[in-house]
Amino acid sequence: MNLAQDLRSLAEQIEACKRCDLYKSTTHSVPGEGNLQAKIVFVGEAPGFHEDKQGKPFVGNAGKLLNSLLAKVGLNREDVFITNVIKHRPPQNRDPEPNEIAACRHWLDRQLALLNPKIIVTLGRWSLNYFLPLKKISQVHGVPLKINKTVLLPMYHPAAAFRNGQVARALEEDFQRNKNIFQDPNSATSMGENQDEGGQQSLF
Ligand code: URA
Repeated sequence: MNLAQDLRSLAEQIEACKRCDLYKSTTHSVPGEGNLQAKIVFVGEAPGFHEDKQGKPFVGNAGKLLNSLLAKVGLNREDVFITNVIKHRPPQNRDPEPNEIAACRHWLDRQLALLNPKIIVTLGRWSLNYFLPLKKISQVHGVPLKINKTVLLPMYHPAAAFRNGQVARALEEDFQRNKNIFQDPNSATSMGENQDEGGQQSLF
């Protein structure tokens, strides 16, 4: 099988997934989408209302903001791959529960192993803590962290920018500050030291 077939097959398995109960209250799964050769993968939290209806990630207001942040660093959605920690919408957009994150880990880990990106941009704390459970988004946002051969770039979640003007400004600045990495992902992997988080698991 080739990469496109492998990812399609994963998406079909995600659509049929019953590893936790979230599928019961959803319209569609949202496996993620984008450029299969992408060097940059964005990982959000979980689908919301619009994502659940369309089966696509970041198509609501947070998605519009993400599109505009991407455009300002010279990228569009077709250049990157966009997915989430959780593949089915939690009811009323509530926070994902630990058992749901654990159940869904299977899918994101397999997607990342197939895509093998140079850079993983985490959007929000759930995504950051998926990879680095002890880090605080308020302390590490906008700072690239090297983990093995991958660079993790933690960003605030675009939805948080609607609730808090300071977060909105930080998000904009963090994208701008890392413009060179977005434009030349290979340059990012030659920098920094491994991050020691005291027993964290390796990325994938
Ligand atoms: N928020 C997320 O974290 N993911 C989406 O796909 C949409 C909104």
